[in-house]
Amino acid sequence: MEKKIIIAIDGFSSCGKSTLAKAMAKALEYVFVDTGAMYRAIALYFLRNNIPFNDIAAQEALQSIELRFKYNSLSQKSDMYLNGENVEQEIREMQVSQKVSEVATIPAVRAFAVAQQKAMGIDKGIVMDGRDIGTVVFPNAELKLFVTADPAIRLERRYQELVQINPAILKEEVAANLQQRDLMDSTRAHSPLKQAEDAMVLDNTNLDRAAQFELAMQWAMEKIKSS
Ligand code: C5P
Repeated sequence: MEKKIIIAIDGFSSCGKSTLAKAMAKALEYVFVDTGAMYRAIALYFLRNNIPFNDIAAQEALQSIELRFKYNSLSQKSDMYLNGENVEQEIREMQVSQKVSEVATIPAVRAFAVAQQKAMGIDKGIVMDGRDIGTVVFPNAELKLFVTADPAIRLERRYQELVQINPAILKEEVAANLQQRDLMDSTRAHSPLKQAEDAMVLDNTNLDRAAQFELAMQWAMEKIKSS
């Protein structure tokens, strides 16, 4: 039987990381984990309960937070549950997107999320996407991908995604949010977004989904065979 590996996928917002991770997990029959959803659910809890964005308040609030992914057979993907409530839709809304990167800078929040993410990888056979997966969560992952794309392409993809949910959304609003999150994610003190030294760079500016998937799967199969 083939050995199972850990695949860590990192990169800036709206590079298509989750789409790629999901497709790879499906093809390999691995577990897929979108770690951004965890930070989004924590941010939603903080916003709903007016929790101040500092380490002490966060430590206390986190004791009342239970995060869980549950498979949704209709959409054929996992939904994020916050304390038993399906929050998959709400965590994608702009009010959460605007605050999530600030919440993700809080050390207690990162420690809380990272501990759960590490535990999910114990049996390997997992594809996890985020910002610090190859550097902090799974520094020994067999395959690390760092996904990038031209900022204008990323904006267009993200805008097309969001305009379906909210036809009134402005491109400028989406652009500002992407820029703000990229800046906060790559400059924060604790586990900033950065390319792991041993990561393979996947620039998908000129690749469609199928071509990107094919290339990443080729790398994954090489790692599976050699591990
Ligand atoms: O992946 P997504 O864009 O949904 O992530 C939302 C936010 O969560 C990111 O902008 C980042 O601030 C934070 N995040 C993080 N570390 C991760 C995944 C997401 O800090 N591993």
